[in-house]
Amino acid sequence: MTSAPKTFHIKSFGCQMNVYDGERMAELLSDTGLAPAGRGEDADLVVLNTCHIREKASEKAYSDVGRLRRDDGSRPMIALAGCVAQAEGAEAQVRSKMIDIVVGPQAYHRLPELVAEASRGRRPIDTGLPGLAKFGAFPGRRRAAPSAFLTVQEGCDKFCTYCVVPYTRGAEISRPWGDVIAEAHALVDGGAREIVLLGQNVNAWRDGNRGLADLIAKLSHIDGLERIRYTTSHPADMTDALIAAHGEIDKLMPYLHLPVQSGSDRILRAMNRSHSTDSYVRTIEQVRAARPDIAISGDFIVGFPGETEEDFLATLEIVDEVQYAAAYSFKYSARPGTPAAAMDAQVEPEIMDDRLRRLHDRIAKHQLAFNRSSVGKDTRVLIERKGRQLGQMIGRSPWMQSVHLETSAAPGDMIDLTLVSAGPNSMSGAARAAKAA
Ligand code: SAM
Ligand code: SF4
Repeated sequence: MTSAPKTFHIKSFGCQMNVYDGERMAELLSDTGLAPAGRGEDADLVVLNTCHIREKASEKAYSDVGRLRRDDGSRPMIALAGCVAQAEGAEAQVRSKMIDIVVGPQAYHRLPELVAEASRGRRPIDTGLPGLAKFGAFPGRRRAAPSAFLTVQEGCDKFCTYCVVPYTRGAEISRPWGDVIAEAHALVDGGAREIVLLGQNVNAWRDGNRGLADLIAKLSHIDGLERIRYTTSHPADMTDALIAAHGEIDKLMPYLHLPVQSGSDRILRAMNRSHSTDSYVRTIEQVRAARPDIAISGDFIVGFPGETEEDFLATLEIVDEVQYAAAYSFKYSARPGTPAAAMDAQVEPEIMDDRLRRLHDRIAKHQLAFNRSSVGKDTRVLIERKGRQLGQMIGRSPWMQSVHLETSAAPGDMIDLTLVSAGPNSMSGAARAAKAA
């Protein structure tokens, strides 16, 4: 593959930060004159923006590379980006001869140069971790979805014993105050009505003595910006100011994603989580005191090494205690190079399957109860996209629920409605007539 590509396609996997990175790579490549291709099959350059968090996600990257070979034996130029690229480096090109470029999550601002090198027949690799350099290299934001992501913090210093993020994304860094505000303005000018502030530990964001609560307060004054969210937070970084912000800033939505991972203190210590179940539950109580209707969501890992049935029952207990409005649960996946991968007492896959199923069921019960408790509420949704049926649109409630409704409204509109029915994963709404002034 030696000719310079004219079209590109980016496929992002994994977390919202990868979605954000994918958007920025697309802007960068468009600015250098490449045109977006709707499908990978048609593109001259395919960027696979990968996830390394669990083994399955990581292996998927390689099977996707293989699938890019066309029936006539030709293939596009292939760039392996994201966390698998960072973790595997040169090894990726040994595993697959089809990978032309390897570029880590902190180096993708160099993608145009790397593409030029690959067009000259080289196989360039950049897995440097230069911190904030990439943000300064991007073109300005021009178009944005009604709900737009904005990365404000990257990396992690927490070193949970199961997690690859501190190795693939590097040390915790925060983007400067002024840069974030400028990008938020550009997103709103480009059509965003909601901004979701992103970071692996977004609530660790700092600039001097200003923290995330100050940033949210400042952003809330942007005209045309209706809603602010932030994710993902670490329990140890939930400051009093951020908790108070939930009661004080109307544009800050009543939703908090606060992963606990396990309900067993013994397991939390082995995970190096730096919080206990008690401190976690106390934080949730404080958040609820500030904003009583807040929807709480979380992440859980089942089958961490040494997890007993008793530990797992403690996880079910904390699910009952917190009554999550939503939550994500994962089977523990041993990641090369992490301390947990070398721990004794790895849990059998069948036991993990069983625990995952029981945890799903318990979370689903609370999610449905939360959705049912919302029926009858008058609220506003942000219309995000078309639904499956003619005339149907899908919006997002303040509590992050998907809401289906019949309306002639378009993506980006805010619609007043009543929530009329609840399912396990979504709600239905009926639009209310706008009140005369
Ligand atoms: N920083 C966030 C926090 O501390 O909760 C989470 C970021 S991580 C990208 C997203 C989720 O992936 C974690 O909350 C955890 O539940 C899950 N995860 C991370 N490493 C994992 C592993 N080795 N096996 C299974 N799940 C894992
Ligand atoms: Fe991974 Fe823990 Fe950092 Fe979250 S806090 S990114 S789970 S190391």
